[in-house]
Parts: sequence; C-alpha cells; structure tokens
Amino acid sequence: MGTVDNPRGEWIALGHEPTGAPVPLAAMLTERLGIPAYIDNDVRSAVTAELVLGCGKYSDNFIYLNVGTGLAAGFVINRQILRGANHNAGEIGHMSVDIRNRDACICGRHGCAENTVSGAGFTHMVKKYGRTDLLLHRCAAAVYIGGTGGCRLCGHR
Ligand SMILES: [Zn+2]
Repeated sequence: MGTVDNPRGEWIALGHEPTGAPVPLAAMLTERLGIPAYIDNDVRSAVTAELVLGCGKYSDNFIYLNVGTGLAAGFVINRQILRGANHNAGEIGHMSVDIRNRDACICGRHGCAENTVSGAGFTHMVKKYGRTDLLLHRCAAAVYIGGTGGCRLCGHR
C-alpha cells in the first residue's frame, strides 16, 4: 500500500502521505536478510504474481482490477507492468466519476470512484445513507447465508 519506486527499491509514500525522504527499503531488507529483496506496492505485487503464476501464463496483455480498501488496477502490456512517470499508474480509484458528489475523498478531491467502489467507499456509503445495519455482517459476508442461519463464524443475524 502506498507509492513505491520499484526500480530504485525505495518506499515513497504511505497512501497519500509522503514518507519524507525516500526509504531505501529493498536495500535495508537485502542487508538485514542476506538475500536479494525487492519492493513494490500491494497491487503491483499482485500483478507480478498474476504475470508469473496466473493469467500471465496465457496472455501478454491484461488488466488486474483490485477492489479492496481502495480501488486500483495494474496494467500489463507486452508482459511489462505499466508504472507511470510518478509510480502512480493504475490508481484509478481517484478518477472523478461523479462531479456532483461533494463527499471529500482522502485525496482531497470530490467524486472519486473509490468513494463508492471500494471497501472503504462501501462503509462510507452505508453510513451516509443510515444503513449501518448492512455493516453487521461484514465479519463474515462471504459465509453469510441469506438471513436463515446468520453468520457461520460469529452467529450475527
Ligand atoms: Zn480521491
């Protein structure tokens, strides 16, 4: 999570907060562990895994869409991960999709896709519309069965 200068092995920012001076995290890990270490942000690391172990076995070009706490994408073109001039390629969550929406995004702008299409955006929307009851089953949404038995893990109904 955050901004990483992968070729230089430096961590630049956590979310929208710069780290100050770039942190040479890959070199620090290499020295500490005694083995070569590389760093990347969470989505590009997942894209690398897809490229090597997943759909990259079948295609040289693909888009990896990550809907998690935020919203981001990884673009693979001719087996190369698109990184962008400022290491922010694929940060599609901050693309303005609703200019009438005045809810502030963590980036400081309004109308960002991430404000609705992400885990944090979902939480924001249910609170905004007073449907916090929808958050009760977030603990096990994947195993919740249509209200008949509640959550299989914690028993929430
Ligand atoms: Zn934003």
